[in-house]
Amino acid sequence: MRRQQNQAACTAVWNLITSYVNGKLSPEEERVVSDHIDICSGCREEFKNSLFMTRLLKENLSIPDPPKDLTATIVRTVTPAKK
Ligand SMILES: [Zn+2]
Repeated sequence: MRRQQNQAACTAVWNLITSYVNGKLSPEEERVVSDHIDICSGCREEFKNSLFMTRLLKENLSIPDPPKDLTATIVRTVTPAKK
């Protein structure tokens, strides 16, 4: 059975999770979150999802820009060479 009295703690933890996965919390706040996700499976799932999304976001951001002459290359490729 779910314990309803954890609701306030869960809400507080959810508000901190994004900062937690980004390492932006104070040591005290970090301990509150990590202690809570140890005992609360719902928040542990939320934490895992946030961690996954944050990693995904960081990986996407680190993808280098496409080469600047990409458009020219495509145009050259699809335009038949004149003779
Ligand atoms: Zn919780």
